[in-house]
Order: sequence, then structure tokens, then C-alpha cells
Amino acid sequence: MLPQLPHFGELTVHLKNLLPNYINGKWCPSSATESLHVVNPATVDVLAQVPLSPQDDVDTAATAAAVAFSDWRRIPPPTRVQYLFKLKGLLDENLDDLAQTITLECGKTVKESKAELRRAIENVEVACGIPMLMQGYNLEDVARGIDEIMIRQPVGVTAIISPFNFPGMIPFWFLPYAIACGNTCIVKPSEKVPLTMQKVFELLEATGLPKGVVNLVNGAKAVVDAILEHPKIRAISFVGSSPVAQYVYSKGAAHGKRVQCQGGAKNPLIVLPDADMEMTTRIAADSAFGCAGQRCLAASVAVTVGEARHSFTDAIASAAQTRVVGYGLDEGVEMGPVISRDSQTRIEGLIQQGADEGATVLVDGRKVKISGYEQGNFIRPTILQNVNPDSSLSQTEIFGPVLSLMHLDTIEDAIALVNGGQWGNMACLFTSSGAAARQFRYEAEAGNIGINIGVAAPMAFFPFSGWKNSFYGDLHGQGRQAVEFFTQTKVVVERWFKDWSRQF
Ligand code: NAD
Repeated sequence: MLPQLPHFGELTVHLKNLLPNYINGKWCPSSATESLHVVNPATVDVLAQVPLSPQDDVDTAATAAAVAFSDWRRIPPPTRVQYLFKLKGLLDENLDDLAQTITLECGKTVKESKAELRRAIENVEVACGIPMLMQGYNLEDVARGIDEIMIRQPVGVTAIISPFNFPGMIPFWFLPYAIACGNTCIVKPSEKVPLTMQKVFELLEATGLPKGVVNLVNGAKAVVDAILEHPKIRAISFVGSSPVAQYVYSKGAAHGKRVQCQGGAKNPLIVLPDADMEMTTRIAADSAFGCAGQRCLAASVAVTVGEARHSFTDAIASAAQTRVVGYGLDEGVEMGPVISRDSQTRIEGLIQQGADEGATVLVDGRKVKISGYEQGNFIRPTILQNVNPDSSLSQTEIFGPVLSLMHLDTIEDAIALVNGGQWGNMACLFTSSGAAARQFRYEAEAGNIGINIGVAAPMAFFPFSGWKNSFYGDLHGQGRQAVEFFTQTKVVVERWFKDWSRQF
């Protein structure tokens, strides 16, 4: 099934489904000489062609964004946010269409697609508060007759580089704040899922934003490298795998840019014996298998403590076996495919590696065929039991619907396991003990903590934290930290004499 492509007038027809860029207020063909298929992961139908834009296209976008910046930063913040109010309305009105597009290119269920869009909209709503959020502070008489004020000013041209797994949400952790603060912006979506941002940019265009304030450049590594090196780009927000996050962070910083990079994860979920087992199992299954495990906040290791082992193991195995897997657009489906055939092969290989390292494959989701979608990249929920905490798999991000089970004797052992790893995106505890919950939230080394919550995704008015190898930088996306990231502070110390001659 071919998706309804956005309407770019004659352009779509002319380019035979080669997606255009959006630069300086216009849809324009990329100057790419190469392109990739955008593939529906459930049906493997080719949805469109995404151009691999070269450095020149980034240069054109950065130049347009730099020119637009000098006017845009002068527009009063209460006027700037009027465009965001319009955008929020347009996102609400087009939610169903956008959700369908996410499902088509990314594979998740429509319900999951709508949920990610709601978080995107929430970020737009929070950024509408910029006239207050962007305020600085001041103090009179820091010395006699001298006043000091701190002002926040926009940084200039910013860029957003996003991953495949939340095509509609992740750019919104940054974009609304960037432009509300008076910056201009270039977005580079994942080349695997570029259609959602095409539609979002149609809506951005419909808000009437001045030309050059937001720009879209499609592509892959060449676009990222051009962003990292471009002298006009001042700040970069990246979300993706840790090796690329590390690369973007170090290269961007070496080029003098402000950089925030959210990376990969391996999130542990700890189950104490006093947890409500029915609720815990339901939430754990949603955490591990929701979005086919392709979520940076997915639980990928469940650690049972003491007596929790037997009841949890049986219940989670049953939840894995009964989860309805299929095409995300079909009614009643609870889990879609993984993003690509390569990804499917990699995940299946990691399941085998777990088995080779001594784990038992308690529920095996490999080699499945979904009726009607036999070519799709499907893996059913999989559970590996008795995974050795010292095995290499226990530290490898699988990014698929695979849950590893481990068993430990005490909560202290579990916290030591959480803190011993290289990752720090999320850790969850299931318990009915307030004391255990407090110990966990105090001691666990992760940026997002869930207590009886399986996906501790911060609302838009809190930062999306991440520690250790799950984050490179200082300020995170969303809320106040996004405002700090997209502004630079200026301190003014001033003295005004009534009578200049008498003061010296
Ligand atoms: P990815 O790292 O492959 O790609 C992310 C972006 O980087 C894409 O836009 C891609 O074009 C670009 N890119 C890829 N390889 C590059 C290279 N060698 N040089 C320069 N640019 C490159 O990530 P993905 O597979 O799209 O997304 C999944 C990963 O993202 C997982 O590791 C997941 O944990 C992580 N993620 C993290 C968070 C978070 O908040 N911490 C959120 C979502 C996803």
C-alpha cells in the first residue's frame, strides 16, 4: 500500500517520489545523486525515495537559517509563540494522518504512534510558555549604585539529528524550544523514516513562519558531517545510538558547538517479592515489547529478587506468548515489526549469542511469519532466562522485543547490577515498600527512574535525562533544560550616575 504523500504541488510527480528538502520557506529538490528506499517494515513495500543530500544542501539551509536569524530573534517572544499555538492546533487536527504515516514507515501500532504525537504536542504547549521560561534575573545594588542583570539570548542556527524509532516525537524535544527562544533550525530526520517530518513541515509551513526559520534536509551521514563542521551552526541536538552520539558530541564540540547527544540504553527493571505481580507483569510486558522493544526506555533486563523469581517468570512468559503481533494499521495488533531486515537479522543473532553464552531461550520469537505479511520484519516477543550478568549480551543494547531475565538475592545486589553497567537511561523498581523505593531512587545510577512504572518517560515539562553512556553533554531535551540549551546567558553590570562629575 502506498501512503498518501504530502502535497508538494508538481514536485512530487516530477521527482517520482524522491522526497524534497524544505529550505528557506520552499520545498526544493535535493542536489543528491543517490537515494534510499523508504520501506514499510510490515509489508516491505517501498513508500518513497529519500535523497542522500550532500554538504551543499546543508550549506544552503545553514545560510538561509543564518539570514533568517537576524530578524527572527528580534520578533518579541509573545509574537513568536503565536506560530506555536497555530502549530499545536494543526498537529491536533492532523493527528490521525500523522499517526498513520508513523505506522507506515516505522511499524509501530497506530495507538503507539498517537501516543508519541501527544508527547510532541505537549512539547509545543510547554514551549508556548517561553515569554516566562526565557526570562533572566537581576539584582539591584550589587555594589552601591550598581545593578546586575542576566539576559537569555538565542544562540543562532541550531540543528536536530533524530533516530528512526520516534519520527514524530523526538524532533519536538528540541524544535519548539529552539524557535520559541529566537533561534532558527535545521532538522535532519532519520533516513529510514523521513515521511513523518515531511508532513510536519507541511504544517510548519502552514503556520506562516517566516522563511528560513525552520529547514528540513534529508539524508544520512554526509548531512550529519556537514552539520558538525558548518561554521554557521551553533548548537546541535542529537538522539540515536551511543557510538554515533559519542562521535557527534566529540566532533561537534571540537568545532566549537554546543552539543547535546542522547544515546543508547539497556534498561533494567527490578522486581521485589512484595510487588503486585499481576500489575508488574502487565507493565513489564508493555515496557519490554511495546514499540517492538525499539524504545530507548524499553525494559530489556528484568531482575527478580528472592521469591519474585517463579511467579514473575511464569507470568511474563505467558504475556510474551499471548501478545498479538502484526501490522500496526490492523485492529487489535499490540506489537508491530522491527524497522528493517538488517535489524531483524541482528536481533535474531543476539538471541542466538545469548543462548551460546549459556542463557535458555524460554520464549523464542525468531523465524515467525505473520499471515498476510510474510515478507515483513517480524520477531515475536522473546525471553532469555538465566542470562549471566557478566556475559557480553547483558551489556549489549538489543533494541528489539527481547527481555533477558536474571535473578539476584537482594535489592543491594540489584542496585549494584544497575550501577555496574555502562548505561544510565532508565531503571525501574516494582515493590510495595516505600523504604525500598526510596533506597532505589536515591542510589540507582540512571537519569530516569520508574517506581512501579515501566517506561519512565518524562513529561515535556521535565528534562529527558540520561546518564553515563546514554548521554553526552550537560543539558537535556525538553522543558527548562531545553530553554537553557537554546539560549546563552549575558550578564550586564550597569551604573548610572545622576551627577557624573561627583562620583570620581
Ligand atoms: P543511529 O545512531 O543509527 O542514527 C541516528 C541518527 O544518526 C540518524 O539520523 C542517522 O542518519 C545518523 N547516523 C547514523 N550513523 C551515522 C554515522 N556513522 N555518522 C553520522 N551520522 C550517523 O540510531 P537509530 O538506529 O536511528 O536509533 C536507535 C538508537 O537510538 C538506539 O540506540 C536507541 O537507544 C537510541 N535512542 C535513544 C534515545 C534517548 O533518548 N536516549 C531515544 C531514542 C532512541
